[in-house]
Amino acid sequence: MPLQTEYPTTEATASSATAAVLAAHPRATSDPQARAAVATDRSGYVPATLPDGVVRAESADDVIEALRLAHAHNVPVVPRGAGTGLAAGASAHAGQIVVDVSGMDRILEIDPVEMIAVVQPGVLNAEVNAAAAEHGLFYAPDPASTAICSIGGNIATNAGGMWCAKYGVTRESVLGLTVVLADGRVVRTGRRTIKGVTGYDLNALFIGSEGTLGIVVEATLRLRPRPVRTETLAAYFDDIEAAGLAASAITAARIQPSILELMDGPTLGAVDRAEGTHHRELGGAFLLAQTDGYGAHLELDEIARAIEPYASSVHRAGSAEEAEALVKARRDAIPSLEKLGRVSIGDIAVPRNRLAEAFTGLEEISARTGVPIFSVAHAADGNLHPMIVVDPDTSITEGPAKEALGDMFHLAQGLGGTLTGEHGVGLLKRQWVEEEVGDISRSLQGAIKAAFDPTGILNPGKAI
Ligand SMILES: Cc1cc2nc3c(=O)[nH]c(=O)nc-3n(C[C@H](O)[C@H](O)[C@H](O)COP(=O)(O)OP(=O)(O)OC[C@H]3O[C@@H](n4cnc5c(N)ncnc54)[C@H](O)[C@@H]3O)c2cc1C
Repeated sequence: MPLQTEYPTTEATASSATAAVLAAHPRATSDPQARAAVATDRSGYVPATLPDGVVRAESADDVIEALRLAHAHNVPVVPRGAGTGLAAGASAHAGQIVVDVSGMDRILEIDPVEMIAVVQPGVLNAEVNAAAAEHGLFYAPDPASTAICSIGGNIATNAGGMWCAKYGVTRESVLGLTVVLADGRVVRTGRRTIKGVTGYDLNALFIGSEGTLGIVVEATLRLRPRPVRTETLAAYFDDIEAAGLAASAITAARIQPSILELMDGPTLGAVDRAEGTHHRELGGAFLLAQTDGYGAHLELDEIARAIEPYASSVHRAGSAEEAEALVKARRDAIPSLEKLGRVSIGDIAVPRNRLAEAFTGLEEISARTGVPIFSVAHAADGNLHPMIVVDPDTSITEGPAKEALGDMFHLAQGLGGTLTGEHGVGLLKRQWVEEEVGDISRSLQGAIKAAFDPTGILNPGKAI
């Protein structure tokens, strides 16, 4: 079911400041359809108004010019990649302009010896991997949205994915950046070498900053050799708590899977309905494990042994096609739920030995608030995505859906966890940031923001 994006039909007039920016930039438009197309992301959030205009950047110079003009006229700017974010980080409203970099989509260089790729920000994650594969390499951070999300958006959210179980999140795979600052100046961070500690690590600071410190216009990415061998299994459990205990047992046994994913029974049912598969018949929860490298088969044996006390059945994939079908089932989770209504996606992370408690807590939240919660998890990272599905016309920013999102944060906090593992704070989770980081950290973060963006024009109201 597509999102209902209903905006006021009356044509809002751009302020004189945004009008001046839009008139002066050769790649700007205030066409209503273009503005509607960039007003929100995949979070389910619908802004009450449209942004005043869009700059469709095709080069770093387009971004520099947009920010110079915005700075001169004090106009708020929302950076945008592919718009697949799940925290309303790229959402924009009246009085703002969007700088859309999805058209900056060229892979500039693949160096197979140094194992690096230099790319523009609008390149899709899967395109980097396809180009790397031609050289026997891969780019490790692989969100389930790999086919539709951009590298710039991945960097801005410090995105994770399935292979992050072994290879780490985006921050572990970005060596250097070129970033346009709020006033149009350009800064280069990081380097092309694997090591380097000269100066403060501004590269790491930009990663996960959700477009509030600058707009990424080029990235140098770390590639890795493709594993010589992968082995995959799917295990089914009576319930999600048993699956959570099994995942914790794998971690406790010090086995290093390259993928370790969980899905609960309701999510399996939704995937089956959308894709015609039959996972739900096999159990009330599903665990997908993959190992890689020369000893992949031996490591998978260890995983099978660790989960045996908890699983009702275990199936080893007999072919690459069978393995891909199992991985696809996990990737299909969010799109399958989107067919049922408007989806609000939580992103809490907890210590890995407390996964089962987190699932129990989510069931209690569902019972208390009356909202159905479907759950998947990147189990090796303790990162859960509890998903609330509401009627397409129902708001996710108030009422029971909002209450459940707050309860999820407090559940994670109580278990020693965090508000967001990989999707970012965006607009939707901002009210809980200070509660997690504390007032000293919050004020330091405010000072950093002021150093990079003194007039506060970059993605205001997001992230911190
Ligand atoms: C079906 C589905 C599955 C998903 N699975 C995962 C998953 O497994 N793991 C995961 O981490 N996420 C996942 N996501 C969420 C989303 O794909 C990621 O957050 C992704 O990194 C967003 O990239 P984007 O290009 O769509 O960014 P956008 O949505 O366009 O923007 C996201 C944020 O980045 C900022 N931004 C974008 N480009 C730039 C730039 N060049 N410079 C500075 N700031 C910028 C925006 O202002 C915004 O704050 C999923 C989403 C969907 C719809």
